[in-house]
Amino acid sequence: MTERTEDNAQELRIRQAAAWLEPGGPVARRMPGFEVRPQQLQMAEAVARVLAEGGVALLEAGTGTGKSLAYLVPAAAAARAKRTRIVVSTNTINLQEQLLRKDVPLVQEALARHAPFRAAVLKGWTNYVCLLRLEQALNGQMSLFPAEREAARRLKEWAEDDSHSGSRDDLPLTVDDALWDEIHAESDTCVRHSCPFYERCYFFRARRRAQEADIIIANHHLVCADAAVRAQLGWETDISVLPGYEHVIFDEAHHLEDVVTEHFGARFSRTRVRRLLSRITGRGRLLERLQHFIAGRPAGQDAGQVVRRLQAVPGWAAAGQQAADGLFAYLTAAARAADGADGRGRGEGHVELSPGQLEPAGWSRTTDGLEQLGLALQALSEAVRRWRPGDQEAEILAREAEALGRRAVDAAADLVDLAEAADGRFVYWLERAGGRREEYALRSAPVEVGTLLQDSLLRHVKTAVFTSATLSAGDEFDYFKSRTGLAGWPAVAVEQRIPSPFNYSAQVLLGLPADLPAPDDPAFDGALANALGLWLQASAGRAFVLFTSYRSLEAAYGVLAAPLSAQGMTVLKQGDGSRTRLLQRFRRALRPVLFGTDSFWEGVDVPGPALSLVVICRLPFRVPTDPVEKARAEAVAQRGGDAFNDYALPRAVMRFRQGFGRLIRTKSDRGAVIIADIRVHQRGYGRRFLDALPACTRLQTDARSLAEAVRRWLPPAAPPGDGAARA
Ligand code: SF4
Repeated sequence: MTERTEDNAQELRIRQAAAWLEPGGPVARRMPGFEVRPQQLQMAEAVARVLAEGGVALLEAGTGTGKSLAYLVPAAAAARAKRTRIVVSTNTINLQEQLLRKDVPLVQEALARHAPFRAAVLKGWTNYVCLLRLEQALNGQMSLFPAEREAARRLKEWAEDDSHSGSRDDLPLTVDDALWDEIHAESDTCVRHSCPFYERCYFFRARRRAQEADIIIANHHLVCADAAVRAQLGWETDISVLPGYEHVIFDEAHHLEDVVTEHFGARFSRTRVRRLLSRITGRGRLLERLQHFIAGRPAGQDAGQVVRRLQAVPGWAAAGQQAADGLFAYLTAAARAADGADGRGRGEGHVELSPGQLEPAGWSRTTDGLEQLGLALQALSEAVRRWRPGDQEAEILAREAEALGRRAVDAAADLVDLAEAADGRFVYWLERAGGRREEYALRSAPVEVGTLLQDSLLRHVKTAVFTSATLSAGDEFDYFKSRTGLAGWPAVAVEQRIPSPFNYSAQVLLGLPADLPAPDDPAFDGALANALGLWLQASAGRAFVLFTSYRSLEAAYGVLAAPLSAQGMTVLKQGDGSRTRLLQRFRRALRPVLFGTDSFWEGVDVPGPALSLVVICRLPFRVPTDPVEKARAEAVAQRGGDAFNDYALPRAVMRFRQGFGRLIRTKSDRGAVIIADIRVHQRGYGRRFLDALPACTRLQTDARSLAEAVRRWLPPAAPPGDGAARA
């Protein structure tokens, strides 16, 4: 067979794979009750086509399409036919886990005879426990509190049981971030083959499984980290995080811009310096362990070198600390001056930086201190290796000194970059961070991520599929393409918006209250709280109330929490526990109400009558003074676009669609969505929001009549009893 004929045969085999999702096909035969969905077939055909021919596909697939199977089935066929590896990248660990535990095993079973394939999940280093660091923590080499020591002991028992992946998500106990920071795997301090636990190491086992896999389930952060390494070492390098691959499928692709932004941006904070110095000079840390190591071995000329190098480090660490304290004292004062005398003025939490603005802060003293510290650690590391070549324990210490030295030098380089603020492709700012404690961080972010994404990844792969339930602002993919650099990209072969199979007009009452003040009216908060009281009573709770700011959330919660609780509702609000924990409580309660901001607008799945009402309090425009938002809007205008219509509006519409999408998760769900922001029907741009939704039963009336309509529309709730929660 000629090469071309072989290629054609491969392409045909891949394209035929979509038929495996048809009635009577292997998936239907394997899954009792499997429902054939034309939308799923349509998506599978599109994925199969680009995997066969190469190129980029943009596929928006509405809720209920079954998109995981729609890409996994053709991916399995392509991996088999082309003997190639495919990376499936998600934004959340939740979806990664769902694919690994539910969808992949199902497809593997169904296609066992047609396209058998191996799959593995791979997460970033810090998700896995490091057996060496855990051992060090338990041996008292690190300063753990008694409770942490007890938790570390339980972790040790868990880590010795090989039945799990060693990932934090598999942990049967809650471990706080501070302890996890002490024991997770790190790429730079890891001694690899010199590690006594190398064969058992959870990260390397996961990596070995990934190397043998045809389909790797990864996440956007890991793909970005891998791409950054490949950008430095060449795409073909085999020492990057992910094994080499040619095809990538991004699920939850609407998050990519944010992930790339975060990945290529820089951050310099007092906490970063403090953590670094604590790893070096803290109790039971590097220097102390080295002193202990030296004391237990015979002295000699080379040992003297190590001691001299070691003695130089604390001085540089102290100098770095002192300079950083001075820098952050200056930054705090500057931020307070810009943000009101007590730092609570406008509350925007950030001050934009321009070139030269930080000169008076004397930032170069900090960079000098960190650079010298880095060099001192480097010299120490070399001296240790010279003194005890081949000694495993010496290598562990030398590697740590080298890695921490590099971190000091990297921190100095980031500070130079942030203080000079000279790269016009980036935006620089000083941000208030750290929650209740007043703490500031210098930040930078790329204004546009398109070129970064293209150069570091898209130019190197044969296929890239971008999919999500929300990839457009309701019309075309113009916004997504412009944000990811795909506008005008010749390889975009497929663009499809695949509608949800749900019958929204029968399932959703879309309520538009006509008598509320506009959100910028001082009377809005009070009127909203009154209306929410009526609507939540009508729905018997079972509701998400979505806000765009924590301040508005607190205002409404403060007014409503007590009266709603008195009506037998379980009232929850974001911030009172982790998202997972809040959702567990929501699902268990009979009449739950959850007041949420950012993280509840998407990625939250509550099927059935437990969630019957979603209230969108305001249209979700981003804060226009946010430095990244502002820089991006300006860049759009500079290119001749319209900052509002081409950037702020489509971004808000996508977010709005995500909020709306919380309600209907299955074809038997029924509920109401109320948009409390009257701009949606009073302003010209409001149409863009409403047109982006599927056709629903729409009702525009006063808030009280709307409450009555909601009561009639919803299935009745179970009466409140003395057991306020489901068993
Ligand atoms: S190989 Fe590296 S990550 Fe694994 S246990 Fe050893 S030091 Fe930790």
